[in-house]
Amino acid sequence: MKLEKNKVGLFNYTLTNEAGEELDASNGQPMAYLHGYQNLIPGLEAELLGKTVGDKFTITVPPADAYGETEERLIQKEVPKAMFQGVDNLEEGMRFEAQAEGGGIHSVIITAVTDEHVTVDGNHPLAGKALTFDVDITGVREATQEELEHGHPHGDGGHHHD
Ligand code: ZN
Repeated sequence: MKLEKNKVGLFNYTLTNEAGEELDASNGQPMAYLHGYQNLIPGLEAELLGKTVGDKFTITVPPADAYGETEERLIQKEVPKAMFQGVDNLEEGMRFEAQAEGGGIHSVIITAVTDEHVTVDGNHPLAGKALTFDVDITGVREATQEELEHGHPHGDGGHHHD
């Protein structure tokens, strides 16, 4: 059975950045995804199409096919510290949930701090980065009707509902 739309794939992976530093890995607990439902970044899902159990590959995905390019408009400079009511000791690297345009919630990170202002970056932490995946496919199966309705896999390596 080959990976294609409506199939569940399981794979082990190691994710490294351009400097060769490991960012993430499955560590022997294969990750499951439902093909064709945007569970994965586009560049990785495209490479998995047509692959089967035992296939291994390494792929470097450019930012546009991963988490997107860094968008300057999502970086806000000179944000008054007073905007962060109730937070003492604002520091680089702190994350906050912010109201997005259109009403959703998105995560921002503080990237610079001065006496009165901070710079916040609303880009995905992996935006603007080329990502290299080492992939080892360990399973391919039919999705259940429930998985198709939910748009994600259940069970081992997949989504768990409480
Ligand atoms: Zn579900």
